[in-house]
Amino acid sequence: MEIAPVLIAGGGPVGIITALALAERGIPVRVFEAEERVNDAPRASTLHPATLEMLAALGLLDEVVVRGVTARTFQFWDRPTRSLVAEFDHAILKDDTLYPFVVQCEQHKLANMGIARLAAVPRTEVNFSTPVVAVATMDDRVEITVECNGVRETVSGSYLVGADGGRSLVRKSLDIAFDGYTFPERFLVLTTLFDFAAEHGVAYRAYFSDPDEWANLFKVAGDDGKGRWRAVFPTLPGQTDEEVMNAAATEARLQRFFPKAGRYDIVHRNIYRVHQRVAARFRDGRVFLAGDAAHVNNPIGGLGLNCGIHDAIHLAGALAGVLRGERPDSDLDRYDASRRPVNIEYVQQQTIVNKKRLEEKDAASRQSNFDNLRRTAADPAAHRAFLMRTSLLESVRKIAVTA
Ligand SMILES: Cc1cc2nc3c(=O)[nH]c(=O)nc-3n(C[C@H](O)[C@H](O)[C@H](O)COP(=O)(O)OP(=O)(O)OC[C@H]3O[C@@H](n4cnc5c(N)ncnc54)[C@H](O)[C@@H]3O)c2cc1C
Repeated sequence: MEIAPVLIAGGGPVGIITALALAERGIPVRVFEAEERVNDAPRASTLHPATLEMLAALGLLDEVVVRGVTARTFQFWDRPTRSLVAEFDHAILKDDTLYPFVVQCEQHKLANMGIARLAAVPRTEVNFSTPVVAVATMDDRVEITVECNGVRETVSGSYLVGADGGRSLVRKSLDIAFDGYTFPERFLVLTTLFDFAAEHGVAYRAYFSDPDEWANLFKVAGDDGKGRWRAVFPTLPGQTDEEVMNAAATEARLQRFFPKAGRYDIVHRNIYRVHQRVAARFRDGRVFLAGDAAHVNNPIGGLGLNCGIHDAIHLAGALAGVLRGERPDSDLDRYDASRRPVNIEYVQQQTIVNKKRLEEKDAASRQSNFDNLRRTAADPAAHRAFLMRTSLLESVRKIAVTA
């Protein structure tokens, strides 16, 4: 019997990886993306070892490595003294994974790679400029309304994956709560061509603790492959876009961070609101939530997109198994039963701790944090345990054991 397509709302990285993982198993997919192309504004880029394993299985890893920046180490710095506190090295995971490093590859590249691969697979389609505007679920199918060029159409499928981002229409249509909180400050991302590794010995991923203004710094390849650095800072609550983003303010901010002769070559500025929220459930009948539609978190540690890709791979495996008649329907319940707690236990907790560590104001607590980081980095067993947890490898291994 012919399998009805799985419908996917959202052609971001999570929707596209879900589609590709389904297509690889012979499941027809129809992706509906509201925008006319993949959003290429600076967003997530860090891909951790567990995610690299999944991308390798999909045949995407080689291109990700070529188009990204490989970073074996990452660092914690004390920003006021501009001194290195501790360095962590993924090489310590060499017996745990084939990929003991991260690759910093911008998320739009990953989504576009997936779209290019899908184009060659029969019975798959990615429709741009086609938002999903309504969702209806039945016992035997799901129906969505999509809109293209002002014309509405009803599309029917076996299941629907809501991978339509933090403001998910799919989640709202099903009235699923998105509990949690929004930070009062927003995050500013400045992209510059200045080379912080060559000039200051900063690793390709580095976190700067500061009671006044924490920072993150990491290198990406850029579309031209020549390399550029993204510096992330908190803004003050209530500051306007213009106050934060004007040329004088951004230059002054980078000069305060690392003073240098001459101006910084700033090639991109962007500011966004940050939340810690988890959907009350990831499954509602024939509808599933994945990626930012299901959970959002602050970007310190680079976990949100990784967790979304893990959702995608788990969900695609379960849906393909059930649709091909190889697995019981109860496999689908396991998606909610395992992915939701994993997000809370690993991603929400870890990113909240990461942010607190960087913004800590109390001098004694800051020193204690630094001592802990130094002790952890110096002890091989603790170093490995820290990386297993912070790279989400532990969470993926845990689910694999119980699945
Ligand atoms: C400005 C910004 C900066 C970020 N920076 C970082 C970072 O530095 N590090 C980090 O780890 N994370 C970062 N994040 C988070 C990270 O980008 C997300 O975790 C990641 O994009 C999740 O992928 P996704 O596919 O689930 O959602 P998205 O990438 O948001 O994709 C959802 C897609 O669904 C589409 N869509 C929405 N509504 C509909 C609809 N009704 N019908 C059809 N399509 C729809 C959207 O157009 C979009 O293409 C950032 C997020 C933002 C917003």
